Amino acid sequence: MTNTGPTARIIDGKAVAAALRGDIAKNVEAFTSRHGIAPGLAVVLVGTDPASEVYVRNKGRQTREVGMNSFEFKLPAETSQADLLAKVEALNADPTVHGILVQLPLPDHIDERRVIETITPGKDVDGFHPINVGRLSAGEKSLVPCTPSGCLRLIKSVEADLSGREAVIVGRSNIVGKPLAQLLLRENCTVTIAHSRTRDLPEVVRRADIVLAAVGRPEMIRGDWIKPGAIVIDVGINRVPHPDDPAKTRLVGDVAFAEATKVASAITPVPGGVGPMTIACLLQNTLTAAQAIHENA
Ligand code: NDP
Repeated sequence: MTNTGPTARIIDGKAVAAALRGDIAKNVEAFTSRHGIAPGLAVVLVGTDPASEVYVRNKGRQTREVGMNSFEFKLPAETSQADLLAKVEALNADPTVHGILVQLPLPDHIDERRVIETITPGKDVDGFHPINVGRLSAGEKSLVPCTPSGCLRLIKSVEADLSGREAVIVGRSNIVGKPLAQLLLRENCTVTIAHSRTRDLPEVVRRADIVLAAVGRPEMIRGDWIKPGAIVIDVGINRVPHPDDPAKTRLVGDVAFAEATKVASAITPVPGGVGPMTIACLLQNTLTAAQAIHENA
């Protein structure tokens, strides 16, 4: 009998994220009873971008659910750079705040780099400060960007030892592709980073035991680019017209999911794969930052 159905294991990001939040909640409880203070995460939102407002609301809710303190600051879109930097400095000095996240993108009149560089590296739970970027690439302890951390946890939920594996990352952004490469190198993978100038991308992807797609192009990576048995992690989030009703939209990843499930051994869906991991990893970073501050860990 021919098997025409999907063969890949679907990696359930919601379940992996829920398990991680469960562990975090236990460790937060222990931390709070040791130190008499709960870890605190401050999120600063400038302006009223609807997508950012949803993220900030979800972050606040999940922060409280694991027993941490959530501090939310909504500043008007016309907030000056000087005022935002002053807010960040105040949070740097606040002993009840262990993690600081300034929601990106920021309005055009604000220099994102300046803002990121003003966050004290020990509270930089996004892992974007140059000190944390440098420490990660030097193989030192650091706060690691959340989406790449989430990807690694998903891979490890299906395969514990990645040593010697060929990993191909498509996309070289500072928030996803480059930190992912550092994390996979640390796991002893042989890492290739592909991008828009890569020649013969399908052939490069076919080498991979682990494919990581972080491009932002709907279903660009086809099933016949995937090596049989590969693990596929799809970071892409693309909104496209719904095939049954063009008035509606739906989310798809950077990988042609239906094709890839017939070849891969395991694959993340979109939505429900990498997406749910990002906030869970942010909460882990906040706990890690609090432990480093209070326990010199
Ligand atoms: P960027 O736009 O910053 O980077 C995209 C990368 O893809 C670039 O390196 C670019 O190459 C490369 N690229 C573009 N076109 C091609 C092509 N035709 N062939 C090969 N490479 C190509 O995106 P991000 O890294 O910020 O995000 C990538 C995707 O991940 C997006 O869909 C985003 O929404 C999603 N995302 C999801 C998150 C989550 O799940 N929580 C978090 C962050 C992002 P070049 O450098 O040469 O231009």
